[in-house]
Amino acid sequence: MQYHLNGFRPGDPAHHPATDTKSDTDVLIVGTGPAGLTLAAYLAQFPHIRTRIIERRDGPLVMGQADGIACRTMEMFQAFGFAHRVAHEAYHVNETTFWNPDDTGQITRTGRIDDVEEGLSEQPHVILSQARVHDFYLDLMRKAPTRLEPEYGTEITGLTIADTVTAHTNNGDIETRYVIGCDGARSAVRRALNIPLQGAAENAAWGVMDILATTDFPDIRLKSAIQSRDQGSLLIIPREGGYMVRFYIELAKLNPDERVADRDLTADDLIAAARRILAPHTLDVKEVVWWSVYEIGQRVTDRFANTAPGDTTPPQVFIAGDACHTHSPKAGQGMNVSMQDAFNLGWKLQGVIEGRAPASLLHSYSAERQAVAQDLIDFDRDFARAFAAKGKDPKAFQSHFQKHARYTAGVETRYAPSQLTGPADHQSLATGYTIGKRFHSAPVIRWADAHKMQLGHTITANGRWRLFHFVGDTDHTGALGTLIATYTPANADPDAIIDLRTIVQTPHRMTTAGTTHAPVKGTLGLQDMEKLFCPDPSADIFDTRGIDRKIGALVLVRPDQYVSHVLPPGQQDVLVNWLNQILGSGP
Ligand code: FAD
Repeated sequence: MQYHLNGFRPGDPAHHPATDTKSDTDVLIVGTGPAGLTLAAYLAQFPHIRTRIIERRDGPLVMGQADGIACRTMEMFQAFGFAHRVAHEAYHVNETTFWNPDDTGQITRTGRIDDVEEGLSEQPHVILSQARVHDFYLDLMRKAPTRLEPEYGTEITGLTIADTVTAHTNNGDIETRYVIGCDGARSAVRRALNIPLQGAAENAAWGVMDILATTDFPDIRLKSAIQSRDQGSLLIIPREGGYMVRFYIELAKLNPDERVADRDLTADDLIAAARRILAPHTLDVKEVVWWSVYEIGQRVTDRFANTAPGDTTPPQVFIAGDACHTHSPKAGQGMNVSMQDAFNLGWKLQGVIEGRAPASLLHSYSAERQAVAQDLIDFDRDFARAFAAKGKDPKAFQSHFQKHARYTAGVETRYAPSQLTGPADHQSLATGYTIGKRFHSAPVIRWADAHKMQLGHTITANGRWRLFHFVGDTDHTGALGTLIATYTPANADPDAIIDLRTIVQTPHRMTTAGTTHAPVKGTLGLQDMEKLFCPDPSADIFDTRGIDRKIGALVLVRPDQYVSHVLPPGQQDVLVNWLNQILGSGP
């Protein structure tokens, strides 16, 4: 973490001095779920953007809802600066077990596997209450320069869209440039836009409960998928803290027009169903912390903004998270995908509002994230069916689970070629950085202080682009710095728009770069010595990420950690053409 750039300041470096906020609202976020809070925490750091966030409830969420945090989401939390807090509190999913009926019909363990494939991410797959994730975001917002706080007890009821947008709420109208509906599955913003959620219900009822219990079932502290012979299926998710556990329990099949609410199910019904599936193992529930029943269904909207694909008018209203896609919770994707929606939108809104990107950039939000959601819906339908299926092959669900583990870890998202995602012409220069996928971190050694670290951890969620310059036969850092300066406003730090980081091939003790890779920054004109990296000999990044050692590679990374392009360092005109279409003209 870097601080004291503009002079020494005592105390918590994450607590920024407050700045004056302008009175006109730029962005109104509706809902303080994971999507709304990700966007709010992101925008809260920009003093020139006036963000407000409203919430129908009277206060923050305290329990229940989602709990699965995928590796990819932890990578994003790292960029926000609180991954270590989540990792410290959370349950870490190391192994998953599978139970199926034996010949006598009794459940028996049929498989035990690593939950996450080695090397998939430097971050773990963890389980932590959604409410705690909200707390971390709220903490960031409180300490941000704009001191953003949710306005609780405020419910949106409708919208009027003209040159600006007017949001009608129970506490009066709010006029704003943009509205983001992060208001969940029954989104009022979506209704106001008249965009239907399309899809179908599976007529299957499930229960979920967080309990404190004792049992002689041995895998109670492992993620376990249990398929009984004729009592349904159960998914065990151990929870943070060492004692609490979550059960997802298959309940009855519903009739075509029946709703699960019509069945008047109680927590005791859920416990009884869980006991039947676990039998002959015991289950003695001491406390039901939270429980709920739900129906499985997969639904998605065909666009995530008030404009349709092909429209030239830039969008002013967006929807994100459950407001535009809902699915079953067992694959643990809801909270994760919702937060990634918001991360995708955040930097685009910031760029446009700060006047650094054309408003047409906002079209790419719906285009990119609707495709991701559609994939998720298709995946979830198969996953839910595979889990509930009572097939002949006891390993069928295990195979399905293993096959899709990269997907559920969140690292398979790949944006199609577009104005933001380059063609694969030079992909061979860095085969481990797939264009359109997230930047896959790897260990390096920071040259200036010999600090062993992850290269991906240089990417903080602050709206900047990153240009990683892997040096081949020639070091182009000087010329690249000059080029980047043409995109940087006068008086801004040299890395304010594009943050250039150089990775050389020589071991750190033999590298003699001096201060030539240290740009001068801040009001005091200090040198930033943290821009140069060397390979970690235990896993040389040039090998692990397939970098061409002769030509080297430029890896351009978007503010949301996705690889925008891979280019040859010596052909700067190609880089200039690419940057010009994203950032406007440079040199
Ligand atoms: P949400 O988290 O739903 O947040 C929407 C927010 O908007 C809420 O705070 C809501 O109060 C607010 N809001 C709604 N309407 C308005 C309005 N008109 N004006 C102002 N504010 C409004 N996922 C799992 O993985 N496992 C689970 O067991 C699980 N259980 C769930 C149980 C429930 C009851 C719910 C609602 C969701 C559950 N989910 C579960 C889904 C998971 O929580 C969501 O996928 C995730 O929270 C989506 O985040 P979001 O920010 O899009 O929406």
